[in-house]
Amino acid sequence: MESPDVDRPPDVDVIVVGAGITGIYQLYRAVQAGFSVHLLEAGEGVGGTWYWNRYPGARFDSESYTYGYLFSADLFEEWRWQEHFAAQPETERYLNHVVDRFDLRRHITFGARVTSAGWQESSQQWRVGTEAGRTVTGRWLIAATGVLSIPYLPDVPGRDGYRGRSYHTGLWPSTAVDFAGQRVAVIGTSSSGVQVVPAIAAEVESLTVYQRTANWCTPLNNRPITDEEQAEMRAGFAQLKETLDTSVHGFHHRPHDRTAFEDPEDERRRFYQSMWDSPGFQKLTSNYTDILFNAEANAEWCRYIADRIRAIVADPATAERLIPTDHRFGEKRPPFVSGYFEAFNQPHVELVDLRQTPMVRITPTGIETTDGHRELDIIVWATGFDFGTGALARMGIRGRGGQALNDYWAEGPRTFLGVATRGFPNLLFPGGPHAAAGNNPRYNGDQVDFVTDLLIHARDHGIGVIEVTERSEERWTRMVDRGAAASSFGEGSYYFGTNIPGKPKRYLLNSGGRPKLFAVIAETVAKDYDAFEMVPVAEKATATG
Ligand code: NAP
Repeated sequence: MESPDVDRPPDVDVIVVGAGITGIYQLYRAVQAGFSVHLLEAGEGVGGTWYWNRYPGARFDSESYTYGYLFSADLFEEWRWQEHFAAQPETERYLNHVVDRFDLRRHITFGARVTSAGWQESSQQWRVGTEAGRTVTGRWLIAATGVLSIPYLPDVPGRDGYRGRSYHTGLWPSTAVDFAGQRVAVIGTSSSGVQVVPAIAAEVESLTVYQRTANWCTPLNNRPITDEEQAEMRAGFAQLKETLDTSVHGFHHRPHDRTAFEDPEDERRRFYQSMWDSPGFQKLTSNYTDILFNAEANAEWCRYIADRIRAIVADPATAERLIPTDHRFGEKRPPFVSGYFEAFNQPHVELVDLRQTPMVRITPTGIETTDGHRELDIIVWATGFDFGTGALARMGIRGRGGQALNDYWAEGPRTFLGVATRGFPNLLFPGGPHAAAGNNPRYNGDQVDFVTDLLIHARDHGIGVIEVTERSEERWTRMVDRGAAASSFGEGSYYFGTNIPGKPKRYLLNSGGRPKLFAVIAETVAKDYDAFEMVPVAEKATATG
């Protein structure tokens, strides 16, 4: 993709792709630092995940005030989250508010899906093209394209011949879908599917839930934030920020101080009840410290959850089908639910267990399993995403010598800190593959801060091109791969890419977690960014934007 940009300065210093929670923060930091920035966003509005996933029931399962931005005390002070776990419309409003409050909208072009991005060796800049034919050049390309932004539709025979309406949760239309009186199917029973089911159950004529694998769902325990809590939260902002900026997983929950079998049985039972009643991820972050790695403790907690499911679901056979039998708690990312199990007590809601009666095909009018055919008006695909690398793989990225990122990553991603890869100078991707696991905005924000400081360092030192060294990339990638074996996530988790046919099985998170990210960032900064080769700026290529 060499082009005639040789004598032309780039349009801007920085091109950011994606106006999700990471891209907005990246835009803010880069603008504040004095760079000229152009953000390209495929959607017609800001929000990223919180723009596309507008399906009924979509909401946070991290506490709202720990998910939102912390860079401005004033912003924190003035935004009043309604619920501990905000629903999608509130989050979308919040992100629009942030963009307007910090005057960022003028830097964004909407409806601009990036389909090509080529490194121009001669001019030391990136040339980025959109589906609509627009071209932008920039010294730096920052892909804040997210890890869950490419919806996955399984290749079920007959899918494209279906004549009813069908929607993927991750590509939900902006106009409301009318479910009233409709015969509806939901395929997929993980985090998205279990949110949709109770949200539409009351409206539909019939609801058939197609489950392949039951998940360890526990209650979200959402509720409105009281006035008293609002005041406490504001008064405690500095402390909350300190906690979230340093926590290993980006949550504010206090870790527990005991392993399971330090407590006697009746105490453990009481503790599991307190976990069941606790909000969201606390069931992971504040559970017994060995809950993920002590098989006996994990099995006991699973038995507790199973008993709770049996107590909620009236039909014993349905209850048993809703209880996972093939994986332990925490082996997959657990979903959190509000009224999911209860939904199956309604006579028009039915669970189809695809392990017992596999799906045969989609017909023009419904779904056929080995148990027969069901007529349907609407199919909701809650079938997940091409995690981690999906969006980067679809941007047509080509680095030095025209090398395609997809070829370089054919066996899985190779990164340094989950933000850079060798052979692709001045390309950074905070919030991409090899990011930590936990409360996303927190460690994605760490990566944005690192990236921005790197850009500032380069500018201050007259550096035009940076490229991660082979050694740094190798060390980080090896750390990720070695640590994967010790991760609580199993290879059946989409964190290994195994949900996508043909995708190499590689760990797509940072198995060293946030502490490793912090340590290597500190070491890199202390050593003047020696993890990167740096080349002085060529005089002719200075941004005009
Ligand atoms: P997911 O966790 O990948 O789940 C996909 C579901 O689709 C699984 O139940 C899977 O079954 C099923 N499926 C896939 N292919 C199928 C097929 N051919 N036939 C039948 N079923 C099939 O996707 P997700 O639920 O969209 O969640 C993805 C991630 O998004 C979450 O882990 C979370 O990080 C995020 N999320 C967060 C929230 C929130 O509360 N904040 C809400 C939604 C999503 P198998 O398990 O058998 O493969």
